Amino acid sequence: MNPPAFNELTTQVGKEITENSSFQPPLGLLYIASYLRTQGDHEIRVIDSQVDRLSYEQLKAAIADWRPDIVGLTALTFTMVDVMMTAALVKKIDPDCPVCLGGPHVDIYTQETIRLKHVDFVITKPGESSFSILVKQLEGSRRFDQVPGLSYKDENQDVHSNPQTPTTLTLDDLPFPDRTLLPFQKYYSIMTANRPVGTMVTAKGCPYMCVFCSERGSKPTWRSGRSVAAEMLEAKSIGIKEMFFVDDTFYVKKQASMEISQALIDLHVGMPWGARARVNNLDQGMLEKFRESGCQRLHIGVEAGTDRVLKILQKNITTDQARRAFKLCRDNGINTMAYFIIGNPGETLEDVQATFRLACELEPTTVQFSRMTPMPATELYEMGLRSGLFPDYWREFSRDPLGSIERGFRPKMWTENFSEEELFALADHHTRKFYFRPKYMARSVVAVRSFHDLKRKTRAAVDLFHGTRQSTTRLQKLI
Ligand code: SF4
Repeated sequence: MNPPAFNELTTQVGKEITENSSFQPPLGLLYIASYLRTQGDHEIRVIDSQVDRLSYEQLKAAIADWRPDIVGLTALTFTMVDVMMTAALVKKIDPDCPVCLGGPHVDIYTQETIRLKHVDFVITKPGESSFSILVKQLEGSRRFDQVPGLSYKDENQDVHSNPQTPTTLTLDDLPFPDRTLLPFQKYYSIMTANRPVGTMVTAKGCPYMCVFCSERGSKPTWRSGRSVAAEMLEAKSIGIKEMFFVDDTFYVKKQASMEISQALIDLHVGMPWGARARVNNLDQGMLEKFRESGCQRLHIGVEAGTDRVLKILQKNITTDQARRAFKLCRDNGINTMAYFIIGNPGETLEDVQATFRLACELEPTTVQFSRMTPMPATELYEMGLRSGLFPDYWREFSRDPLGSIERGFRPKMWTENFSEEELFALADHHTRKFYFRPKYMARSVVAVRSFHDLKRKTRAAVDLFHGTRQSTTRLQKLI
């Protein structure tokens, strides 16, 4: 179950033009459900409270009607308040129904999470096999010590944690996520006029070392091109019109992304796709192949407008590489989403202005200026702890998400050189300034392809206007 997001933690003022201004299916849940189905005769339902816009009352009715034997919940740090409210709801309906949490938050804060009220089990990644073994144990001898990667409480409420065993399953071994378990027609992205949009995984892990990213230095693994193409064909057969690869970064290995592109061409998949990418290893040959296989957009993290700040971020790219990569994308007719961060370590007001100038120079199709928010399990968070910029507040939050919110908890930004108010103002001012440039507006009008496209762009502009106008007065104090 994907919980509601009414209490999602955010450092954003309003909606912005991002890949998040979309509904993306909870792919991890679909993988768990599809794998579980291969392991026995289970009746499985997947509820995405967010895309179905379920209120807690409606969610309660759905759970009471279904009466599940176990509930699994996706836990992200930013949605932990709603995760805990949903866990409490399940227990209110049926105190004996086990609640199991999995997802990026519990991979980091396993011990804090298993000690929370209403949480019976926590599974760390990879969860597919562990969850199905847990289900078998619940149906049989209840030997929870036999479930790899499981944390649980015994009758005395003492906590036990089993080590996760190295998986022998490759990404190609997993069954394709069964998208029909969800109302797949409802998923969309403000970045594209195609609907519905699906998501999929072609690779996991990233060897790069960006200080703000929890995936830094993780071992990459890839799927074969034929497997990716077969899954896209299956998605196409049920009516999905575009696919976004949610891999940490699609072309970490040139050979793998070229193989996928070639398979999409050879098997005549004919479905538009997008992916996240880096500027340092794009070349003309790759982009030609991407384009030929259906690539329509790349989401690219540039982060900063000076090489000095990029070095501090350990991004391992240069501004010249960014210039070259964005030009290549434009030349090959591939849309781009550029991500920038305001308030990086060591960043001055001049650096922020250089970031804005670079954003304009790159001419991405869309841009996002976010505020630097140190996340758990990142080098940046450790840097903040070491320098005394903040205490270990994410761990504190994880020990009591509901209580933290009642006490006014908010995610902290990197405030070495700017206050939080200034960061909000700077990011919002530059977002607005970027989109309301005459050159950008003229280009967007020329690029309108249909009435639906016009509606989508108008909605994005309205969101943007409402989201940023609150910040302009605050900015006037700064620049
Ligand atoms: S930000 Fe992207 S490139 Fe950098 S470590 Fe994370 S996934 Fe890798």
